Amino acid sequence: MPIEKTEGFVLKAYNWSESSRTIVFFTRKSGKLSLTDRGGRSLKSKRGRAIPFARLELTYYSSERESAGHLSEVNIEEAWTFEDESALGRLAFGSAVCEMLRLTLPDHEPHEDLYIYSLKFFRCLSKSPREALLPLFVCYYLRAISFLGYRPVLSACVACGRKKEDFSVSARFYKLSPDRGGVICNSCQSEGERYIQLSAEDMNWAAALQTSSLEEAESETISYQRAFRVLDALLWFLKTQTGIGKINSLDFLNKLKQAQGSLGINQPGSQPV
Ligand SMILES: [Zn+2]
Repeated sequence: MPIEKTEGFVLKAYNWSESSRTIVFFTRKSGKLSLTDRGGRSLKSKRGRAIPFARLELTYYSSERESAGHLSEVNIEEAWTFEDESALGRLAFGSAVCEMLRLTLPDHEPHEDLYIYSLKFFRCLSKSPREALLPLFVCYYLRAISFLGYRPVLSACVACGRKKEDFSVSARFYKLSPDRGGVICNSCQSEGERYIQLSAEDMNWAAALQTSSLEEAESETISYQRAFRVLDALLWFLKTQTGIGKINSLDFLNKLKQAQGSLGINQPGSQPV
């Protein structure tokens, strides 16, 4: 078995005995990679432990057979602790990123740009102000799905290319077709097709976010309601495009939404139609 080195972070660990487990990593060199971690759960283990939310240097024995490679050494290069205020929210957004990557990344296919972008996200996540967490996550999500090949077309009609500003002078809402992959102008809409409707302000914010850096997203003073609506639309978009199920780590957002609603700060917004 050839020995290999790369860096990566943990997406998920599956324990299969008291001391051993299989870990799914997102690695810089080989993309999504599953490795067995024999004895890695044992506290007696002499080598470094593969902990979540850390950039790890991995030495492993590779194998042609899927999931058959195994870890030899682990060094922690950088760890992100979510100890500041809203630690649970930071942890949940971090887990949502790992879950989304695990569900959408193909095995053994390098995605170095997305890997580096994800590290940047974790660094921001560990230190951003609390109110920036949701815009930061939406920004990451929007760019991450683009890296994966599912970039939604938000500035022009996905069918005819007409610029969004030219749809209609009084357009207060835009319709997004998750099946066709972007915004659809009135002339290109067809009966029976499913659309997600977003207000012009929501859609313009999402379109601007597509070209924003994480640092720019952090400094956004955007309402949670707007970020929720855009995120809901994007989750449905990705689900339709890829067939992946829901991201369980985001369940906490529903509770947050309800809490905001009960505080009377829910704004009238568009619903998926
Ligand atoms: Zn059109």
